Amino acid sequence: MDDPSAALPRIAYFSMEIALEDDVPTYSGGLGVLAGDMMRSAADLGVRMVGVTLASRAGYFRQEIVDGHQVEHPASWEPAQRARRLACKVVVTIGTREVWVGGWEYEVSTSCRQTASVPVILLDTDLPENREEDRALTHFLYGQDASYRLRQEIVLGVGGVRMLHALGIPVHKYHLNEGHSALLALELLRERGAAAASGRALELAVEAVRVQCVFTTHTPVEAGHDQYEHQLVEEQLGGLVVATLLRQLGGGARFNLTRLALALCGWVNGVADRHAETSRALFPGYDVHAVTNGVHALTWTSLPMQLVFDHHIPKWCHEPELLVRVLSVPDAEVVAAHAQSRQRLLHTAARYPGGAALQPQRMTLGFARRMTDYKRPGLLFSDLERLRALARRWPLQVLVAGKAHPHDEPGKRHIAKLLEWARQLEGEVPVVFLPDYGVSLARQLVAGVDVWLNTPLPPLEASGTSGMKAALNGVPSLSVLDGWWLEGWEEGVTGWAIGADGDQDAGRHAASLYDKLETAVLPAWHAADGRWAHIMKSAIARNGSYFNSHRMLRRYAAEAYWN
Ligand SMILES: *Cc1c(COP(=O)(O)O)cnc(C)c1O
Repeated sequence: MDDPSAALPRIAYFSMEIALEDDVPTYSGGLGVLAGDMMRSAADLGVRMVGVTLASRAGYFRQEIVDGHQVEHPASWEPAQRARRLACKVVVTIGTREVWVGGWEYEVSTSCRQTASVPVILLDTDLPENREEDRALTHFLYGQDASYRLRQEIVLGVGGVRMLHALGIPVHKYHLNEGHSALLALELLRERGAAAASGRALELAVEAVRVQCVFTTHTPVEAGHDQYEHQLVEEQLGGLVVATLLRQLGGGARFNLTRLALALCGWVNGVADRHAETSRALFPGYDVHAVTNGVHALTWTSLPMQLVFDHHIPKWCHEPELLVRVLSVPDAEVVAAHAQSRQRLLHTAARYPGGAALQPQRMTLGFARRMTDYKRPGLLFSDLERLRALARRWPLQVLVAGKAHPHDEPGKRHIAKLLEWARQLEGEVPVVFLPDYGVSLARQLVAGVDVWLNTPLPPLEASGTSGMKAALNGVPSLSVLDGWWLEGWEEGVTGWAIGADGDQDAGRHAASLYDKLETAVLPAWHAADGRWAHIMKSAIARNGSYFNSHRMLRRYAAEAYWN
């Protein structure tokens, strides 16, 4: 950061998780991957940004499957091996203690534009100055109890703002990626001398903070938002701003970080059109914009497909919109690139129980996501007889993957059930569970399966992004109408819908899923008439060209940052 442009203000992008590299465990799932893709697009496009997150030295966890159940192993990493230690330290008051916050600077860059990079600050309390308990505050991503998570959010929000100041990084706007970082806005209020303000003085300070802050909400249900008992918040945060202000800004019966962010951010958005609508209904009176998510095109396109694009569509990685031209690329090249990815994936999958039965002549359905109730991982298996009958007529196989949060018991039961169904279907429908879903496995899966399955209970999938990654690789989606798919869906062209828009009935969804497989998806895949190649190219041309993070970041830049 020692070039002259370093003095220009940046967008400070705060996120509890950021997926920096495949094997650096500073993320748990979609939110972190999105934040990482945002950083990668900022580097490619030269948008002056700085990411702020926690070091998460102890990571999320590594998943192993033992006797049909998830087993969690620690996934730690050493920041010193990948990042530069910052010379500054700042102090934050948490409860009655002063906690020192140091950090690391990690440079994000991509091979699309090797000369450019974006710094990410990884905050770290593991310092000799701190008491043992506080040293572990930045270790575990979404770990431990409510008090621990609130204290992490103080480190992220308050510590993050102070660190940027200590580093002399001027900030044009603060972007809050989900409510976890909302406490940063309280620090901005305090800086303006409004820690105990009321009346007109408070209004003026709030107005000034709102101009500085942009908030992206990702959760479509009230229960999904981070909430705490007021008493806990006052104990931990009382040193920052007075209790009356915390009550006033944190909303209702419990202190709600989304409410706080809505009160203190002047520009707010949901992550797909439908999600913005849902959020407006949830939070009447707020002007909620819609910026549909996207994925970093180069990161999520398989190497064989990259070579095809490089040859026919130079500069696609800088301007993924150009992928609309893929329709004129010879079918055989796209099909061959995908076949290479399929081969690699089936080779990987062969190492796991049941994997020996996988064959490239069967259509491969892929389902990989966080294992939790609303994603309904069992929908495809709701009628095993029907699934068997389908596979007798049209050879079919299934790859599944996903972690359940260590405290999500129903999520863990979904994994156990998937493994049980895999056993019951053995010899008829090969079903293989690939352990330890993370970025590197996701890259293989989205590129190597034939169809990407998505079965959330609507409207709970705010956006979803894995189907966008699949689209870049010519893999169509078979999905419930929710999140981004309402915008990306063209029946029989980019993929297929499961059920009708607005329907929440699991029975009807399952019936529709089997019907679509039987009458549309499997016949098209098994037909040898070029139909499938056209579907693959349409997924790339219509969805890969649009649902990428370059487009997403340009929209934030034009509408939220520099408008
Ligand atoms: C993309 C991605 C996600 C998010 O996928 P959804 O479709 O939003 O469920 C989660 N985990 C990993 C590892 C990913 O790469």
